[in-house]
Amino acid sequence: MRDSQAVTFLVGLTGGIGSGKSAAADIFGELGATIVDTDAIAHELTAPGGAAIKPIRDAFGAEVIASNGALDRAAMRRRVFADVQAKARLEGILHPMIRAEADRRSAASRAPYVVLVVPLLVESGGYRSRVQRVAVVDCPEEVQVKRVMSRSGLTAEEARAIMAAQVERSQRLAAADDVIDNGGELAALRPQVEALHRKYLEMAAVS
Ligand code: ADP
Repeated sequence: MRDSQAVTFLVGLTGGIGSGKSAAADIFGELGATIVDTDAIAHELTAPGGAAIKPIRDAFGAEVIASNGALDRAAMRRRVFADVQAKARLEGILHPMIRAEADRRSAASRAPYVVLVVPLLVESGGYRSRVQRVAVVDCPEEVQVKRVMSRSGLTAEEARAIMAAQVERSQRLAAADDVIDNGGELAALRPQVEALHRKYLEMAAVS
């Protein structure tokens, strides 16, 4: 419904892999914002019984569906690697479903504002135009690599390959209305998020 959309103040929260988006979102959530996480929605859609499973099976065949009924990510990755059009087809199925579910959850929120966590927000115009404010979680690239390595057990090379597929730090910062500096200790994150929370409460009240 247009009306409920119009009164939902939406903050897009983004940042490169390992920058600390989830850590920042957790604090916004504790402070009372509704968190809508597009990665979490993507996982739900592709989990056993998820709404994207049937269209993905119809498009790519049963070989990309695991025996438990979830998307077989490794099999899908191999398909995407072997066939350049497969990625676009998969995204053509998933992205509209993710956006629709994000819209639904945002509109259903009764919190003062919604934090929409979108890893590739700067890369995707669809989300930029949906949010009133862009908050970027930032840290030096070397710190990102270290965090990704210790969280996921990836090698530095693998971490850098993922980062290379994302927009550059400078471009992300150029798109930011607000920057959350997460290059330091975790303890330094909270006061910054608290300050932004106060600001967003004020902005949401007059929007
Ligand atoms: P993202 O969601 O952007 O990929 P996360 O919030 O998951 O990033 O953070 C990546 C990893 O780094 C996690 O293991 C998290 O606990 C850790 N982390 C986040 N912020 C800090 C920080 N300021 N200092 C140390 N570790 C951090």
